[in-house]
Amino acid sequence: RIAGGKLLSDADMEQLFDEHVAKRDIDSSMRMRVQIQKVIEQVSEATSQANSEVTEYSRGLGEYQQRLKQETNRDALAGLVNSILGDTTRVREKTGDIRQNLEGSNQEVERLREELEMAQGLALMDPLTGLLNRRGFETHVRKLENDGLERCGMLTIDIDHFKAINDTHGHLLGDRVIAAVAQIVKTSVGDKGEVARLGGEEFSALLGGTFPSAAAELAERIRVSIEKGRIRRQDRDESIGGVTVSIGIAICLPGEKFEALMERADRALYLAKTQGRNRVILASGIRPSNSR
Ligand code: GH3
Ligand code: MG
Ligand code: MG
Repeated sequence: RIAGGKLLSDADMEQLFDEHVAKRDIDSSMRMRVQIQKVIEQVSEATSQANSEVTEYSRGLGEYQQRLKQETNRDALAGLVNSILGDTTRVREKTGDIRQNLEGSNQEVERLREELEMAQGLALMDPLTGLLNRRGFETHVRKLENDGLERCGMLTIDIDHFKAINDTHGHLLGDRVIAAVAQIVKTSVGDKGEVARLGGEEFSALLGGTFPSAAAELAERIRVSIEKGRIRRQDRDESIGGVTVSIGIAICLPGEKFEALMERADRALYLAKTQGRNRVILASGIRPSNSR
């Protein structure tokens, strides 16, 4: 499609996703389901084996008790003790086998869990930039929300006039610009928060507990790095200049929901665009009058 000079529409991407990504997800979950089923069978076999072994053992013990009441002969008593010892050793060996079986199953479950986590990780990542995708970001947000978003900062970053970059240099170079901007944002945010690519040329960074001034400084650093950065064309020895971003910031108000925070950051971004782009705007802490 790219060779055909067409831009990918949302519908195109959805179709490609269904054809190539979702199918793989289904394949791998089918495979995992079969493996999990096998582990469950192993475990239930081991437990039912243990069950019958132990039932047999306690039945045996009951019999010995009966005989113990009747026997007076010393040799017979010694024989009885030997039998009990034999049974006990046997059941200990058997349950040892079962324990080993269960340990093996445990390892298998652990391996499956890791595989599942890896598959999920892939589904949560944007392949072009290596950042979280929308799903990954939402998963991250839900986790954070449990502890409260108090003093979290939200940066919404959008490349300016990106359509013109695509039109001038082509879609492939456009992709490289997106990847380069993503890299700068990710490096700048570092361990202060989580960065995601939520749509075409738009990124979001959710900062852990921060102050408005610190978030604004970070956003300004990102803006300047991108403005100064030069992204080189590989085919010709020239770089494309003039890539800039606009950034909207919102700092979470007490008790504010994530959606509201995001909306305020978006509105600040919109202001940055209308005020001339290549700038950072911090949303005021006042909630819009129509929300409660
Ligand atoms: P503004 O400064 O207002 O943000 O203008 P803009 O041109 O950046 O914004 P607009 O939303 O009009 O255009 C975004 C363009 O980004 C349109 C779309 O074709 C392009 N785009 C979206 N996703 C991708 C992608 O993955 N790769 C490339 N190369 N282009 C993309
Ligand atoms: Mg844009
Ligand atoms: Mg945009």
